[in-house]
Amino acid sequence: MVDLVIGNATVVTMNATREVLRDAEIVIQGNRIVKVGPASGRKTGVRRYFDARGKVVLPGLIHGHLHACQTLCRNHADGLELLDWLRERIWPFEAAHDAASMRASADLTFLECIKSGATAVLDMGSVRHYEQVFSSARDAGLRLVGGKCLMDAGQGVPRGLRETTESAITESLKLIDAWHGTENGRLTYALAPRFVLSCTEDLLRRVQALAVERGVRIHTHASENPTDCDVVREKTGFDNVSYFHHLGLLGAHTTLAHCVWLTAEEQRLLRETHTCVTHCPSANLKLASGTAKIPELMGQGITVAIGADGAACNNNLDIWVEMRLAALLHKPRCGPTSMGAMQVLEMATLHGAKALGLEGQVGAIAEGYKADLTMVELSGAHVTPVADDVVSTLVYATQSRDVTDVIIDGTAVMRDRRGADARRARGARGREDARHAGARLADVMQCTPSCRTSPPSKCSTWPATSVPNAPSMASPSRSGPEKWWACWAPTAPARPPPCACSRGC
Ligand SMILES: [Zn+2]
Repeated sequence: MVDLVIGNATVVTMNATREVLRDAEIVIQGNRIVKVGPASGRKTGVRRYFDARGKVVLPGLIHGHLHACQTLCRNHADGLELLDWLRERIWPFEAAHDAASMRASADLTFLECIKSGATAVLDMGSVRHYEQVFSSARDAGLRLVGGKCLMDAGQGVPRGLRETTESAITESLKLIDAWHGTENGRLTYALAPRFVLSCTEDLLRRVQALAVERGVRIHTHASENPTDCDVVREKTGFDNVSYFHHLGLLGAHTTLAHCVWLTAEEQRLLRETHTCVTHCPSANLKLASGTAKIPELMGQGITVAIGADGAACNNNLDIWVEMRLAALLHKPRCGPTSMGAMQVLEMATLHGAKALGLEGQVGAIAEGYKADLTMVELSGAHVTPVADDVVSTLVYATQSRDVTDVIIDGTAVMRDRRGADARRARGARGREDARHAGARLADVMQCTPSCRTSPPSKCSTWPATSVPNAPSMASPSRSGPEKWWACWAPTAPARPPPCACSRGC
């Protein structure tokens, strides 16, 4: 008796020869694929049978970089570049999270992921409440590689996000012990230093040692924005990737999001250390960060996954949008044959698996692989007529609304477009919670920067901390690297403008 047979399917296997099988059958036992081949018509001795006539089955799609903690900030952080976006919107927002709002944010995130056909994500959390993200993924049935973000340094970080080096490591260890490898291996941990500017050198060295000791991944941001790169150079004397190499963090166990601004030397380091990169085209466009040289990186054999980043800088988490953008974005510079459809689908499957440390386990439909599958119905006007090259149709024309079924670890978490919402409602507190938590956090976003930088006042959410020995704030310039250090000036304006939030700041 086998658990599940998917019959009469067009199967995009992403196996070694990139076979696309017609009228094929996938047999699943437990959480594993045990057979892929021509349809046998077998329906006896089968617990469940899915007729996939008219559908395409592909490996479950993989987000290589996500922030479930930021989803309730969707549509509340537009029109800013990276460092201002973090300082003025995202950090205050993350600092205001409590356990309930974090759970609601993660629930909403994973619901959107599943409904759009993503089965696995590499997620970077906020500093606190990451257990809520794990419990949300556990209940949603999603495959999660993630961890709390680490921030033991940085000017202008709200008090709610500051932590000592010791607590950053201690809290990470607690989460590793509680969650790594749980749910039959569906949930695994990744150490997630936010970026160079928020971490001491001591913390980064300890992260590397801990990653080796506990066998977990490292996930961080690198070279996202030119100002970020300038300040890192000023602070460390290195470019981002070179600094990570200097500290020993590069390697196949590390995934760096963005990598928009890389020197030739940094590209060489990525290639020689087999470090993984995640391309986030929507986020790079919306934050005006730039266009990563993805064709050049992939041309050197570097693993490049794809990710939506966060709903606060995207503003959705639709991996089909990211695939289409990745396929289109580089063509004006590199020519119409660059970033072909198969190459882009590899980013969202095989390369995604590597970026999550799951190579050989997910990312392809082959015997022995875990049963993470996405099924799409290609019958809508926007995909008709379907090309002989079905991969082209998938990457250029298919949308998330075409996803009908999602199977993760052998379990159908969405069947005929049903199930994902109910699963979320059962496991969490439902849609209302997301609305309430979103409203509360949106109110927080009304606080003015002056409110946040004032000495302790009626606003108790986040009086900013000043950092001893911070780089010079002599220049009040709002452009260039000084801007970063000049923010959150310790001296509040004499007459701060009134805050618009409802707490009477
Ligand atoms: Zn990010």
